[in-house]
Amino acid sequence: MHIGYHESTSNGLEGLALEALSVGADTFAFFTRNPRGGKSKPVEKDDAEKLVQLMKENNFAAPVAHAPYTMNPCSADEGLRKYALDTMIDDFLRLEYTPGTLYNFHPGSHTGQGTDAGIEFTASMICNAIKSVQEKLNKNPSSVLLIETMAGKGSEIGRTFDEIKLIIDKAEEKYGSSLKDFLGVCLDTCHIWDGGYDIVNNLDGVITEFDKIIGLSRLKAVHINDSMNDCGAHKDRHEKIGQGHIGLETLKRVAKHSAFANLPFILETPNDHDGYKKEIEMLKS
Ligand code: FE
Ligand code: FE
Ligand code: ZN
Repeated sequence: MHIGYHESTSNGLEGLALEALSVGADTFAFFTRNPRGGKSKPVEKDDAEKLVQLMKENNFAAPVAHAPYTMNPCSADEGLRKYALDTMIDDFLRLEYTPGTLYNFHPGSHTGQGTDAGIEFTASMICNAIKSVQEKLNKNPSSVLLIETMAGKGSEIGRTFDEIKLIIDKAEEKYGSSLKDFLGVCLDTCHIWDGGYDIVNNLDGVITEFDKIIGLSRLKAVHINDSMNDCGAHKDRHEKIGQGHIGLETLKRVAKHSAFANLPFILETPNDHDGYKKEIEMLKS
């Protein structure tokens, strides 16, 4: 299995791979910019090249870049939707320095407009972002955009597999079917559990449902987290592996499941260097 954790970029891009190697990881995640918003630092080309080289030498799986939390593609506020689109385009262009990176984002909160309106806005943004990136690069982007499955806290869209599928379908309707080359899904174990999918008692059933509705071929990455809350709580509070309501046994079954073979697994647990090292060992054993 390929596993890593969500790291800080404080030691630069090369530092991401060095830190991953120090905990026995062969992939990692990182925020494309300050998760609370703001401007991004320019990418240093040398630094990016060192990162790409290290990943190649150590057979890393694709890293998973995370869009900032402040990005709400389906906000009722037009200015915020514009910010989300601009951020996504800018991130996409920057990820060209690390080709093959997956880029996951939260589909957003409809903030009272209703789920259908939210889905419509987010689907439009996906379509517009990819089109704009293609125009600016004069080629296809080398990153794949991933919609993350959400816990359904507040007015979040993307809580059910059906909602994720609707976003994909609407985006493809607007863009065309070739969008499938640039659009996938990132499954978060804490989020689907909090969203009401009982992976403890029915992991195979949940995976079958994902396959039937979305299609496993769409799945490109897994966020592997325990949860502080019960199934269906709609809370989204991540817990350390084995210390939450999902538990180690189930998360090990997720890590070893044939449906997820070869995907990058990313830990987003509240932990430190040694804690992540331990979790990686636990899930690999
Ligand atoms: Fe996320
Ligand atoms: Fe996540
Ligand atoms: Zn979460």
